[in-house]
Parts: sequence; structure tokens; C-alpha cells
Amino acid sequence: MDAEVIAIGDELTSGQRLDTNSQWLSERLGDIGIRVLYHTTVADDLDANLRVFRQAVERADVVVASGGLGPTADDLTREVLAQLTGGELVLHEDIVQHIRGLFARFGREMPERNTVQAMFPAGSRVIPNPAGTAPGIAIDVPRAGREPCHLFALPGVPAEMFRMWDQSVGPELVRLAGAPQAIRHRRIKCFGLSESELEGRLPDLIRRGRTPSVGITVSAATITLRITAQGASEAECQALIEPVAATIYECLGNVVFGEEEDELEHVVARLLAERGKTLATVEWGTGGLVAHRLHEATAKSGYFLGGIVVPNDVALARLLSVAPQVVVEHTPVSAEVVEAMARGGRERLGADLTLAVSQFPQLSRADKTPQRLFLALASADEVVVRSAPHFGSPDFLTTRAAKQALNLLRLALLDQK
Ligand code: AMP
Ligand code: MG
Repeated sequence: MDAEVIAIGDELTSGQRLDTNSQWLSERLGDIGIRVLYHTTVADDLDANLRVFRQAVERADVVVASGGLGPTADDLTREVLAQLTGGELVLHEDIVQHIRGLFARFGREMPERNTVQAMFPAGSRVIPNPAGTAPGIAIDVPRAGREPCHLFALPGVPAEMFRMWDQSVGPELVRLAGAPQAIRHRRIKCFGLSESELEGRLPDLIRRGRTPSVGITVSAATITLRITAQGASEAECQALIEPVAATIYECLGNVVFGEEEDELEHVVARLLAERGKTLATVEWGTGGLVAHRLHEATAKSGYFLGGIVVPNDVALARLLSVAPQVVVEHTPVSAEVVEAMARGGRERLGADLTLAVSQFPQLSRADKTPQRLFLALASADEVVVRSAPHFGSPDFLTTRAAKQALNLLRLALLDQK
């Protein structure tokens, strides 16, 4: 069965609000094995809605719509479905009483216009709404020579829609689709390779139609591999997932840093605690982002001793006693300066490990040579300096640099058994 997801509302088509309902619904549909082929977003306009719904019931076996079920004049979904199926809108007296009761609970009289929320196209079913006044509408739309299209209209308010899906629409679609009883996911988080490099190391795991399936997504240089298995039981799903996860670990080694909700700083926090090492940071380009992430991740453990942020070479001299001539001689984005930063931080904060991030290289359009930033990690016996690639969208350069620094630290901690 293939599906179309429809989002209805002027606030969506005018760009005032992002359509997050379709994203949520599509993930749920995918989970029960129903492939979503189309997303359509449409304004609060009767003719436009009719065209969209006519097209959807022709090209999809399941249609799930959200929005347009409120009590106001711009909420047209009921009317659209009545016209689509050629039926009248019928008043459900029990639903009027139910809505009246909801208002009474707050000591209020039901406004007359809310009766419209108790109007349903003839032949449709009511989808109860445990979280609000607008019930949803389920209707099977007949199609010549084919199975009917299963259409569900839900309110736009996300919290209401979630519950109605969980209680009514989801279970009904599981029955209709004959979906397997269990679906399990496992997310494996990776850092340090590009998406294509990473894919190149995996033996044909990310192929379409493979089971269990492995999906790949990238968010600010963190790559997530999501394994999805379907089976008769949770145990069966886990048994299917296990060998795939083992292959991923084997092929990627320490490029894998964690699973599920893990971020690099959580893994670093665990490693610091395991190794009994304290940490301090000195940051220029990342402006305190590494410290911020570590501060949150180590809140309970106390292994993070503090961070120094330097915005310029004056602060570098004052806070870390890095002589101005070192900066002049080597330039701020250099191995020498980042090493001096790490040494200065070590003296000031006295941690077992001091992580330093250099100033960011200037990105110029004319200059096509790949830029690198410098990272340093000072311990009792040495200062290790590394450089890391620095290019790409400005929106995530700082986040990626913070992750590059945390990853250097993670790899160093892994070596210290
Ligand atoms: P409606 O059911 O059309 O009255 O929608 C009620 C409210 O739900 C809207 O004002 C939006 O704030 C929110 N909403 C509607 N559709 C969506 C959507 N597709 N994604 C996220 N929020 C939505
Ligand atoms: Mg609306």
C-alpha cells in the first residue's frame, strides 16, 4: 500500500509555519510498512482542497491529512470530504453533546459555531479526539475497479494528531496493511568520515530493498546509520539487527562513537570518568561551544574543570601568557599558537588533559586551497597537535569544529586504557 500525506492550512502555504505533521506522519507510515509516495501542502481554499483530495485518492491507497478541522470559517476539510464523496454533512448529536461537555468542564457554554465539528460526511466514521474538541474523519472512498482509498483526516494541532494516530489510525492501518507485529530500530552514530567515504567502507548495506534496511543521515558532520528490522516479535527484530550492527562496527572501527541519543560529548564524559581524568578547554574559533557541551555532559561527574575563551591575541596574552610575537611569527591559525594555547591552559587550570581549538582560518571565495584549523591536546608528558578540515556551510562550521575537537579527545582517551 502506498500513501499520500496532505497538510492543510494557509499558515503552511504562506510560510509562517513549517509543516512538521507530514514529517511525523510519514515516519509512522514508514514504520508500519506503508510507503509514502507524495506530500502535498494546500491552502485553506475549497477548490484547491478538492483538487488535491481528488488527485490523492486516485494515486494513493491511503491518504492521511492534517488540518482544517477547527470550528472557524477557514476550516474546510469536512466540507471538502463531503463534496469529494458526493454526500451530505450529517450532524452527530452524540458528538455535539460530547463537545458541549468539554466546554462545560471549563465552566463555559459551547459557542454555536462549534456544532460544525460534529458534522460528518455521510458514510464516514468518527475518529475520537481524546485531547481536543475536533474529532477526525475516516472514510473509505470508492474507486472504480479498485479497492477503495482509505482516507483519514486529523486535526492540525500536533499533540491531538499524535494521540489520535496512536489510538485509532495507526492500529487500523496496521490491520489493513497486514504489517508485521514488531518493528525495531537501532541508530549507530559515527564521526570523522564524509558520508561517501563511510558508505564506501560498508559492504553494500545501504541498498534499497535490503532487509534489515540501513538508512544514512548526516547532521552537522555526525553520520547516523539507522537499522530497521521488521519481524514477528521484538526478539526476532533484535536477532535480525545484531549481525548488521556487528558488520558496521567491524567495518568502521572507532569511527563509530556511540548509539541512539549519544553525542560526542556524552561519550567523552563517560571516558573521562572511566579513566579518572580531568579536562580543561581553551577555545578561540569555537568561542566556548566545546566547554558548553562538556559542561552539560559532565554536570554530575565534575571531571570538567573549566574553559577559557579567547576572542583575540590580546586575550591570548592576558589570559594564557602567549607572547604576541608567537602569534605574529606563526599566524593565529597555526600549530605553534594552538600548542601554546594548550600549554597556557594547562598551567592555568591544572587539568590532566587540556584541549585547545585555534582561531578559524579565513574562508575566502578566491582561495581554493582547502583550509584547516588546528587542535591540540596537552597531557602531563606531551602536547599532540592535529589539523582538521575547515570548509563548508557557515551554518555548521562552529558545530563541526567543536565536534572535531571532542573527537580528537575521544580518540586520545580510547588509547589510554
Ligand atoms: P487546524 O486543525 O487547521 O485548525 O490547525 C490548528 C493548528 O495546528 C494550526 O494553527 C497550527 O499551529 C498547527 N498545525 C496545523 N497543521 C500543521 C502542520 N502540518 N504542521 C505543524 N503544525 C500544524
Ligand atoms: Mg487551519
